[in-house]
Amino acid sequence: MRKDSTPIAASDSLPNLASNAGWRLEHSYAALPAPFYSRVQPTPVRNPQRVVFNRSLAQTLGLDAEVLDRPESASLFAGNTLPPDALPIAQAYSGHQFGHFTRLGDGRAILLGEQITPDGRRFDIQLKGPGPTPYSRRGDGRAALGPMLREYVISEAMHALGIPTTRSLAVAATGEPVYRESALPGAVLTRVAASHIRVGTFEWAAAQENPQLLRTLADYTLARHYPELAGTQEPYLGLLRAMQDRQIALVTQWLMVGFIHGVMNTDNMALSGETIDYGPCAFMEAYDPATVFSSIDEHGRYAYGNQPAIAQWNLARLAEALLPLLHTEQESAIEKANAVLSEFPRGFQAQWLGGMRSKLGLPDEDDEDLELIRDLLEWMRANSADFTNTFRNLSRGHPNELSTTADPQFQAWHERWQRRLQRRSSSAEAARERMNRVNPTVIPRNHKVEEALAAATDDGDLRPFEFLLAVVQKPFEEPSAGQEYLEPAPQGSPRYRTFCGT
Ligand code: AMP
Ligand code: MG
Repeated sequence: MRKDSTPIAASDSLPNLASNAGWRLEHSYAALPAPFYSRVQPTPVRNPQRVVFNRSLAQTLGLDAEVLDRPESASLFAGNTLPPDALPIAQAYSGHQFGHFTRLGDGRAILLGEQITPDGRRFDIQLKGPGPTPYSRRGDGRAALGPMLREYVISEAMHALGIPTTRSLAVAATGEPVYRESALPGAVLTRVAASHIRVGTFEWAAAQENPQLLRTLADYTLARHYPELAGTQEPYLGLLRAMQDRQIALVTQWLMVGFIHGVMNTDNMALSGETIDYGPCAFMEAYDPATVFSSIDEHGRYAYGNQPAIAQWNLARLAEALLPLLHTEQESAIEKANAVLSEFPRGFQAQWLGGMRSKLGLPDEDDEDLELIRDLLEWMRANSADFTNTFRNLSRGHPNELSTTADPQFQAWHERWQRRLQRRSSSAEAARERMNRVNPTVIPRNHKVEEALAAATDDGDLRPFEFLLAVVQKPFEEPSAGQEYLEPAPQGSPRYRTFCGT
């Protein structure tokens, strides 16, 4: 199938890149029964070019960063050359997209295998945009450079913020155009993930109406992500509960930094608890729970403030898929699932309140905290206050750095907060330190991301991208240079819009 592979890299460099780069790929997913995936080969591209490479991630993975940092590695990261132990597959899955059930699968992604790190962890190595697969149907299986760079920088920003996420090892340009509304430069992203098992994978397995397939997937997922549940009485119910806990924790972390995923379809919710699929995501600037960036999310289904409810909705789809494993009697199975799902609101409320307390530097709990937090958020909403900068400015402790100090309503709130802090004899210094550990200075500001992508794709200039990447990789530092990365989009900028699957 690879006869037509273009010999891009110098022939003597290929063995190095492929075999001596520290690859240690295993294929536990490919050991699942056949219908879970299809064997497929990346389609070679004309002219692979190195665009960006993540040295520190390569090292974590036990890969040789020196070897892979060479320009010839582009042939590997574009899918023209494969590691010797690769077993390329596309995974089958279904999903509810905007509430509607659909058959999907990796239409533009190919899993090369699972890299075993020196400390024994297992990470999927997946090419995104390597050409068509049996699941592509209408699409071309390709990706454009801009969106792949966008995924790279935002996923790395999320990682630096301490939020579980898939990561980005490399982006290689293909030297071929992809045709969207216009011709765009094509690229392949190498995505690294704890796994690519999705809620949609379970929906797909359930739709096969073969309980053995479903059980196989559930056992595989338990072993890979929830080994502590092995040997417990009701492991599949435990799986649902543990997954719910991870999703509550994840969505809470999103909310704490103003992240809007944008396309929380069930196929974009990972059983690992990682953030996955950086299509139309973006960070909120002015606080408003109704904020939506995605151009196709007309009804605000995936708005900032809706994310907890959608996570719960998606977990109900997971629960439905798992029903045959929960009890032989459907009614009893439903009862068990509902008992777990009904824990969501209380679990979320506790996590959210804890997160917001940290953002305000509160070291302990007080019955009035919820009101204190709500009043601040309501003030922020009414005044279109920048989410990131408001919290960071609070911790600076110099009221004159708050552009809003002239507002008596804000002053009143600020005094209440100060009294609350002092009531528990918490020193201002200690509070500030706590706050600075959780309130970022830097998020990937939408207009800075677009600026960097435009320079890279229109002018071939990667410097703004590299500078942005460096800044967002240290999100809790007070940057000495690059103050412009801290500011929201200039007043009067057009409303920011994002796009899916581009
Ligand atoms: P997403 O919106 O990225 O979650 O993708 C939804 C589905 O569309 C997945 O099954 C993708 O694999 C598929 N898809 C997205 N873009 C393409 C493309 N360019 N070619 C083929 N399939 C695609
Ligand atoms: Mg997806």
